[in-house]
Amino acid sequence: MSNVKVCVRFRPLSSRERRICGDDICFDRLDEESFVFKDEKGEDTTFCFDRVFYQDAKQRDLYEFLAMSIVQDTVNGINGTIITYGQTGAGKTYSLEGPGILEFDECRKGLLPRVIDGLFECLKSSTDMSAHTIKISMVEIYMERVRDLLDVSKDNLQIREGKGQGIYLSGATEVSISDLTEAIALINRGIANKAVGSTQMNVTSSRSHCLYTLSVQYESAVDGKVKSGKLMLVDLAGSEKVEKTGAEGKVLEEAKTINKSLSALGNVINALTTGKRSHIPYRSSKLTRILEDSLGGNSRTALLCCCSPSSSNTLESMSTLRFGTRAKLIKPQRQEEIFEEVSNGISQEEDLVDADLSTAQG
Ligand code: ADP
Ligand code: MG
Repeated sequence: MSNVKVCVRFRPLSSRERRICGDDICFDRLDEESFVFKDEKGEDTTFCFDRVFYQDAKQRDLYEFLAMSIVQDTVNGINGTIITYGQTGAGKTYSLEGPGILEFDECRKGLLPRVIDGLFECLKSSTDMSAHTIKISMVEIYMERVRDLLDVSKDNLQIREGKGQGIYLSGATEVSISDLTEAIALINRGIANKAVGSTQMNVTSSRSHCLYTLSVQYESAVDGKVKSGKLMLVDLAGSEKVEKTGAEGKVLEEAKTINKSLSALGNVINALTTGKRSHIPYRSSKLTRILEDSLGGNSRTALLCCCSPSSSNTLESMSTLRFGTRAKLIKPQRQEEIFEEVSNGISQEEDLVDADLSTAQG
C-alpha cells in the first residue's frame, strides 16, 4: 500500500472557456478512478488515479477521500501533507480553502476548514488525552523567500532542522487555536496579507506557494507522554508554462523561480519513486526543503491534481496529469530505512545553507 494518494479534480467549465471552446471537454469519464484524455492532436490516453473528482464532485467528497484518514493519522503522531497542483485557475485554492475567504458553509468550504474541524473532532473523541493544543502557521514562498503571512514583518524566514523536531521555520508565527471560529478568523487575516503583499509587489497570489501548517500536540492520559503530529496543506503556485516570448522582467523572473521549485518538487518525487532514499534532492529549493519530512520519511501524502475540463487547456492539463502519474509511483519507505533514520537521529540543529540553494539553482 502506497503512502501517497494521488487524485485528480476537474472543475466545472468556466464561462470564459465556454466562450472559447463551447462545451468541448478534454476527457471521457470511465469510472471514479479513470478517464480517457483527449490531447490537442486528438489522441487518446487512459489515465488512472486513486480517485477522480469530476465536475459534480462535492467539497465534502474530497475531504472524505483525500484528507480524513490523514487527519486521523496526524492525531496518532504521523505527519501528513496535502498538496494541490495545477495551472492557475484550475481550482487549487477553491479545493483547499473554498471560494473567496474561508467560511463555514457546509457545502462550499474547502479542505482546510474541514481538516481543522476534523482534528478537533479526533482530539475530542480520543480517550487517551489529558490536554491538547492545535497551532497554525501560514507562510508564502515567493521568489525563494519565505514570508510569514501571520506577521508580514518577517519576510525572510530561515529553514532549520532540529533534533526531534524535524524541519521547521525559525521564528515563524504559530498561533494556538481553540476552535474552528478562531482558526477561520486567523487564516482569513493571513489570506488578506497574501493579497496585500501581492498587490504591493504587483503579483497575483498564484505566483507564490502558500503553506499552512497545523501542529497538534497532546499529553497522553495513560503515560503522560507528549505526542505530536504535523499536517501541512500546500497550495502551489500555478504550474503553467509562461510564454518565452511574452514574458519579461519581473514576470519572467517569477516564472523561472516557480518552474525551478516545481521541477525541484518533480525531481524529488522522481527520486522517491526509485525506492532508494539516499540521494533525494530536497535541498534544491525552499519548497522541497520545507516538505522534506512530509514527502519522505514516515508521513502520509495526498496530491490533488487540479485540471480545467476544457479542450482549450489540454496542454496544461496533460502536463498536470503527467506530474500526478509520476507521483503515483512513489514507493513507501521500507521499515528498515525508517528504523535507520530514527536510530541515526537528526543531526545537530543546522541552518539550511543558502549556498546549497544557489548552487543547485545555478
Ligand atoms: P487556482 O487556485 O488553481 O488558481 P481557483 O481555485 O482560484 O484556481 O479557481 C479558479 C476559479 O474557478 C474560481 O473562480 C473558483 O471559484 C472556480 N472554481 C474552481 N473550482 C471550482 C469547483 N470545483 N466548482 C465551482 N467553481 C470552481
Ligand atoms: Mg489559487
